[in-house]
Amino acid sequence: MISPPLEQPVLPTGTDRLLAGGRLTIDLDTLVDNWKALNARSRPGRAAAVVKADAYGCGIAQVVPALFAAGCDSFFVALPEEGLRVRDVAPRARIFVLNGLFDDAAPAFTDADLIPVLGSDHEIATWAKHGRRKPCAIHVDTGMNRLGLTPDEAIAFAENAKSVRPVLLMSHLACGDTPESGMNRQQLSIFQKVRAAFGEIESSLANSAGIFLGADYLFDLTRPGIALYGGEVVSGAANPMKPVVTAETRIVQIRHAVKGETAGYGAAMTLARDTRIAVCSTGYADGYLRSASGSGVPLRTTVTEGAHGFIAGRRVPVIGRITMDLTSFDVTDVPEDAIKAGDHIELFGPNIALDDVARAAGTIGYELLTGLGRRYHRRYIGAEIL
Ligand SMILES: *Cc1c(COP(=O)(O)O)cnc(C)c1O
Repeated sequence: MISPPLEQPVLPTGTDRLLAGGRLTIDLDTLVDNWKALNARSRPGRAAAVVKADAYGCGIAQVVPALFAAGCDSFFVALPEEGLRVRDVAPRARIFVLNGLFDDAAPAFTDADLIPVLGSDHEIATWAKHGRRKPCAIHVDTGMNRLGLTPDEAIAFAENAKSVRPVLLMSHLACGDTPESGMNRQQLSIFQKVRAAFGEIESSLANSAGIFLGADYLFDLTRPGIALYGGEVVSGAANPMKPVVTAETRIVQIRHAVKGETAGYGAAMTLARDTRIAVCSTGYADGYLRSASGSGVPLRTTVTEGAHGFIAGRRVPVIGRITMDLTSFDVTDVPEDAIKAGDHIELFGPNIALDDVARAAGTIGYELLTGLGRRYHRRYIGAEIL
């Protein structure tokens, strides 16, 4: 299937269209559709939105207003710096900051009404001093051994006089993307126990994958991230979300190479046939990971196929090594008059799944999205209010 031409008005940002090597198209209507679908699945609770790492590379400044206008009023970021950027574009939103609280950052939290997610007695004491009665969240670690109070510490906190005013109790699943893992039930039952000690405040356990584990996991607020942006929720299962990001690279030159010649660094690819090669203007400096190379990288000894692009109705394989600024595709099977220098090859989007490229690179869609880099021309479509 050839993706339909993008006819909606576009809002360009970043590198100029004419001067960039690749372009990213971010479809805010699809993002909003994904959020609405996740919000509906979160009932009787509701869905927040996780917008850390610049909204998984999609842009806080565009993503947050689109979601807020659609009815999403709670956002999660990793860092206070990200929280301030959310605050700039969503003056009335609830903004939770996941990565703890440092003493010297506390004034920034209170000034911008950021809600710290507190995960140690020390952080609670810090907020008691600086935040006083301003809202905070309590993170309990139910088995991941990452951030959060132990269950015993959390229960002790709940049962004693409170020095701070929590509005949310949360925890995070280690194996949400593996529904058959016994770890999920185990974390759920610990979370339920801690929650009972906390009484009536809101609670939140599920990330994107957690929303699909069943009603028990929903509680009051879910915290989808990757699913909003169209990434795969459950490893290996059909993806129910729609792709939000289309990444494309521009063809610089199409060359004709002869069977038996090699292509690229390390002469890592020997051509098995006469080959037309489209040399394109993005590479690993744009986050198109070198490990997705067609050949000549360690991963190809265990996973035979490198990544594919898509142009003129066909999947075209990456050949040889992906380099810093250039990537080559085998376009021999694409009719010669169907493509020319200056055209774009889809790296991922409606025709090539983000997660397929990630798998070819030995990683996950999250890493690919958040690593896309600054050199793309970015355009936003949809969500007319912007
Ligand atoms: C990143 C993160 C999320 C979102 O996870 P996804 O898998 O992207 O949905 C939710 N909660 C916490 C604590 C996180 O760190």
